[in-house]
Amino acid sequence: MKWMKARKWPAAAGKFSLSGMGGPAGGNNPDGPLYEDEMYKPVGLLTLQGDYEKHQQAFAALGVETLGVRRPAELDDICALVVPGGESTTLTRLMDRIGLRQPLLDFAVDHPVMGTCAGLIMMSSGLVDEKNSDFGVEPLGMLDCLVRRNGYGRQIDSFTAPVGIDVLEGSSHTFDAVFIRAPRIVEVGPLANVVAVHDGEPVAVRQGNLLGLTFHPELTADGRIHQAFLEMI
Ligand code: GLN
Repeated sequence: MKWMKARKWPAAAGKFSLSGMGGPAGGNNPDGPLYEDEMYKPVGLLTLQGDYEKHQQAFAALGVETLGVRRPAELDDICALVVPGGESTTLTRLMDRIGLRQPLLDFAVDHPVMGTCAGLIMMSSGLVDEKNSDFGVEPLGMLDCLVRRNGYGRQIDSFTAPVGIDVLEGSSHTFDAVFIRAPRIVEVGPLANVVAVHDGEPVAVRQGNLLGLTFHPELTADGRIHQAFLEMI
């Protein structure tokens, strides 16, 4: 694991801090960034809503510290960010109420960001086919693709499928991808590359430091995608 050797983490492996909930001081960043040195910053998890704890566990299994992010200033304390699955309606509402939209766009210019399921919807450039109503979902527009929310159907249509993934270099076996009310990627623009396909359709796209997945890698014990994301830092 060449990346792990290169980085030194400031605290116990797998430690997770929810800002404002007893984690290290600095959630509001009154005294500036927690970690001066970019090398020592933890991976951020957007903890507005969704299954961010599963991502925390996935990184912990790799020995990597994470930090919950809920406020713009907390972006100074992380080296990369995961936007978890959940509900893009709620994510949109909270993101805008807190004033995170522009800070997230600024962060994504030069830091790795991974979005899973609703997280991908938030990263995408837009929605299609919302039956004249987007239910208030307003993507950030950082990843050059269009998505259809709930494109595979309802909760009951959730499924797991083996998927070959290009970001897993040197890995010959497929990844068991869990799709839960997943979005469909219906169009991929020229800036993004398809890195995983299921049934002839893209299910993951990468655009430089940005990675968007329609499925939930955090819901399996297979840490290869989280590891690949760490390699992007
Ligand atoms: N269908 C949800 C949405 O539109 C996403 C579901 C998920 O993240 N598992 O936001």
